[in-house]
Amino acid sequence: MRIDKTRKIGFCQGVRRAYDMVRENRKFFKPPVYILGDLVHNTYVIQEVKNWGIKRVGDLSETGYEGTMIITAHGVSPDIIEKIKTKGLEVVDATCPRVTFVIQKAVELFNQDRILLVFGNKEHKEVKAINGAIENKGFVFAELKEIFQNFSQADLRRKKFGLISQTTRNIDKFKSISEILKKKIRDLEIQDTICPATYERQKEISMKAAQYDLVLVIGSEISQNTKELFKIGKGLNSNVYLIDNERELKDEWFLGGIDSILICAGASMPDAVINRVFEQIKKKLK
Ligand code: SF4
Repeated sequence: MRIDKTRKIGFCQGVRRAYDMVRENRKFFKPPVYILGDLVHNTYVIQEVKNWGIKRVGDLSETGYEGTMIITAHGVSPDIIEKIKTKGLEVVDATCPRVTFVIQKAVELFNQDRILLVFGNKEHKEVKAINGAIENKGFVFAELKEIFQNFSQADLRRKKFGLISQTTRNIDKFKSISEILKKKIRDLEIQDTICPATYERQKEISMKAAQYDLVLVIGSEISQNTKELFKIGKGLNSNVYLIDNERELKDEWFLGGIDSILICAGASMPDAVINRVFEQIKKKLK
């Protein structure tokens, strides 16, 4: 029996940075300490942050006029940071530098008077941060057809456009959208803003999923990059399962004819949980 982990597994750099920034410095933050949403999209980290006595809020109306507000790894638009400071709170900014980079690219393209097409999920915090930085004037889409439904042929020929992506979207889909749009839009500036931590993980599962009898993707369902890994794996192998922890492993997955298992994990999954899944699998196979 072979049990392998993917080469890239567990916290990416941006998640590690946000997690360490809060874990190591939390004693020095001016109380009360608030966080604007989830530090990263992982149920274990969310619970840990709660255990540290940090209060999660959905918006600024839920805070008092003093204390600290933590900005999560997904970022927020600059105007929200200003509002937090104006209210009297100190800001701890745990935004991933890759997200800051995408926001900067969005602003650059917007300042060139381009209509910004943002490949992403409009409900995701990172996408709200990107769009908020350009006065919410970007066009966020998840499927190519939405562009053709919203812009006429004449618009596509005459107007200037920019194209960027949420950091955790599928790289192959972004490339194919880019190729089609290049043929339809006369003036299009494309910035590939998918994060390397995302596409390296996607590439690895694309190359390996079909070679194993069973593939386990460890991550929370609220994590976009985890869902992408699961989707890619499932497209290549019917025996791919998404689990949040070792308790979700099912005995029937390990019955008869399983000789190889691949374990991969989303970019916000702590090593401790990955190791517990690994140990539990070994016990099941004894
Ligand atoms: S996946 Fe990339 S963009 Fe997202 S937190 Fe990690 S390093 Fe940052």
